[in-house]
Amino acid sequence: MTTRLYSHPIYLEHLTPAGHPERPDRLRAIERALEDETFETLDRAEAPEGDEQTILYAHPESFVDSVRRQVPEEGLARIDGDTVLSPKSWQAALTAIGAANAAVDDVFSKKIDNVFVASRPPGHHAEKTTAMGFCLFNNAAIAARHAQKKHGAERVAIVDWDVHHGNGTQDIFWDDPSVLYCSTHQMPLFPGTGAKSETGTGNIVNAPLSPDTGSDHFREAFRSRVLPALDSFAPDLIIISAGFDAHHRDPLAEINLTEADFDWATGQLMDRAARHSSDRLVSLLEGGYDLHGLAFSVAAHVNRLMKG
Ligand SMILES: [Zn+2]
Repeated sequence: MTTRLYSHPIYLEHLTPAGHPERPDRLRAIERALEDETFETLDRAEAPEGDEQTILYAHPESFVDSVRRQVPEEGLARIDGDTVLSPKSWQAALTAIGAANAAVDDVFSKKIDNVFVASRPPGHHAEKTTAMGFCLFNNAAIAARHAQKKHGAERVAIVDWDVHHGNGTQDIFWDDPSVLYCSTHQMPLFPGTGAKSETGTGNIVNAPLSPDTGSDHFREAFRSRVLPALDSFAPDLIIISAGFDAHHRDPLAEINLTEADFDWATGQLMDRAARHSSDRLVSLLEGGYDLHGLAFSVAAHVNRLMKG
């Protein structure tokens, strides 16, 4: 497998207040983990800046303008209690989108089998017209639409194993049967959405997990709900909203996964990508707030992407 890694120094310049879990050190921890010689053959690339027009694939112009207007010239500006902008946040967000779209281009070019994008800010809580939950724009949703518009993908699946429900992705594709959204997440937990009964046009598959559960429940949710949905949908591309905050060390939730579970889930999705999507798999970093848990989990995930 040829696996590409996108990163960019601008992602470290999206700043949040002291004590905020979504912080630049997350990417430094990932970078250190991927310095190991195991990852020597990883194809490392600098993320390109995104095309602003592609933000409109998932968000209306009035919303995009309002986020841009709130970016401060100095210091921090708050969109809500959790979601913060610093002077370089616009450029970081645009470069996160640039990497997600470039990753899609790469896997459709056939030169690269799969891609991991280590970017900030994350995206899956960003609804059509609401930035929230540390997220400004919905990177995964924009990348899915980019695959459809630029590469003619008919069906795109987004699998979201972040411990929080991706309310934003669900909101954007609620009535769009060309995109399958599957999520495993803790419930109850922020943002409160993600019940099994939320099914969109049949294209939304939520698999909520109770607090204090772990590997068995997660894998069972994958086997009984996520994987069968992927098999019947037969996507042209699989995008992973790869949050690693279901790790047992994570301070924001109570699901007890280990890096072995992320390794396993990655393998399952690679198997489905091989079966349905000519191996095309794009993985975008979402959450994960314990630096050790995050580093171990990303290492296991990327190692699996490389090994097949
Ligand atoms: Zn999360």
